[in-house]
Amino acid sequence: MREIRKTTKLDNVGYDIRGPVADEATRMTDEGIDIISLNTGNPAPFGLYAPEFIEDAISTDIKNTEGYSDSRGLYSARKAIADYAKFKGIDGVGTSDVYTGNGVSEMISIALQALLNDGDEILLPTPDYPLWTSVATLCGGRAVHYICDEEAGWLPDIDDIKRKVTGKTRAIVVINPNNPTGALYPKEVLEQIVKIAEQNDLVLFSDEVYDRLVFNGEEHISTASLSGDVFTVTLNGLSKSHMIAGFRCGWMSFSGNRKVAKNYIEGINMLASMRLCANVPAQSVIARALSDPYSAKHLLQPGGRIYEQMDLIHAIVNDIPGLSAVRPKAGFYIFPKIDTKRFNITDDEQFVLDFLREKHVLMTHGGGFNWPKPDHFRIVYLPEVGELTRIADKMRSFLSTYKQEV
Ligand code: PLP
Repeated sequence: MREIRKTTKLDNVGYDIRGPVADEATRMTDEGIDIISLNTGNPAPFGLYAPEFIEDAISTDIKNTEGYSDSRGLYSARKAIADYAKFKGIDGVGTSDVYTGNGVSEMISIALQALLNDGDEILLPTPDYPLWTSVATLCGGRAVHYICDEEAGWLPDIDDIKRKVTGKTRAIVVINPNNPTGALYPKEVLEQIVKIAEQNDLVLFSDEVYDRLVFNGEEHISTASLSGDVFTVTLNGLSKSHMIAGFRCGWMSFSGNRKVAKNYIEGINMLASMRLCANVPAQSVIARALSDPYSAKHLLQPGGRIYEQMDLIHAIVNDIPGLSAVRPKAGFYIFPKIDTKRFNITDDEQFVLDFLREKHVLMTHGGGFNWPKPDHFRIVYLPEVGELTRIADKMRSFLSTYKQEV
C-alpha cells in the first residue's frame, strides 16, 4: 500500500507546546509517572475556574443555543464585543465588523487564510505565540520574524521591523500582552508600529487575548485605538480572562478603512460561513462576561493569586545561578534566559527534555516560540505558590549539576 504522507506545507509548521517533549510526558504518564504539566496556559487544571455568573449564563441559556448561529456569531455576542471595542477606545466597530470563533485560534486561521497568497510575507514577533507562524506557513505565506528585545523589557525592535518590510509584506502581527514574554507595550511603541503599517499599506493584526490580565497598576492599550484609518484586526477571547479555555470562545473585530479591505472581508465572510458558526453555548456567555470584563482583577493585585505566583517565580528565577528573567506585566508566563555556557547548552529542546525526565515537570523550550537561540524556556506560572516553590526548587537542584552532553 502506498505510504500516506503529510503535505509538505506541514514541514515548516510546528506547535511544540504540544510537541515531542509533551509526547514524552504522555509516555511517562502512561508508565505511571506523575508529571506536572506547565506547557499550556490552561487555568482550570490549576483550580482557576470561571466566575459563577459564567456557569449560570450557560445553564440558563442552553436550550436557546442548540441551533447554529449566524456565521458571524450571535447578535448579542457581537453587540457586546462591539461595545467592548468602544470601551477600549476603538472607533466605529459595529456588529457587522465582529466575528466569533472557536477560540482566538480559529480566528487566526480564518484571518490569515483569507489574506495570504503563496510567497506573501507577514511580520511576526520572535518569540511568538507559534500558531501565528504555523498558520502563516500553512497558508503559503512566509513568516518573517522581528525581534522583541529582552534588554528593552521584550519590546518590539522598531528598527528591525522597518528593516524587514519588503515589497511582499502584507501585514504586521502584534501580540500584546505578549505570550511568552509577559510584556505589555506602551503607547509610543504601538504608535510606531502603526506608522510602519500606514506607510507601507500593511494590515495590522493585534492579538490581545491577555488584555484583561494585566497586573496591578498597568494599563493595556489596544492597537486599534491608535491605528485610525489603518485596517486593523483585533483578536480576543474568554479562554484566559474568564478561565474558560475549554469552551473555545474567541472573536475578532475590524476597524480602520474597511473600503480598502472589501475583497478581504468577502473572503472572511465566505470562510466564516463555510464552518457554519462558532460554538453557540460558548458565545452565549460573551455578553455576560464582557459586562464584567475584569472579573479576574482580584487575582492580579498584590495578595491576589496570579500576582503572587508571578512575583514568586520572577524572584526565584532571578535567584537561581545561571537564570534571569524580565518581570512579566501580564498573563501567565515568564520567559527565562539561560546562561548556555555555564550549562553547555546547545539544544534548548534537549534541556527541557532532560528536565522533564529527571524532575517530571513539563515546560516548553524557547525554540517552540520561534526564538532563534537555544537560551530560553517558558514557565507557565499557574500553580499555587506552594507548588510553584517546589517546582522552582526542582529547577534549582537540576541546574546545580546540569551539563548538557553533546
Ligand atoms: N493567542 C495567544 C497569544 C495565546 O497565548 C493563545 C493561547 O494560549 C491563543 C491566541 C489561543 O487562544 P484560544 O484559547 O482563544 O484559542
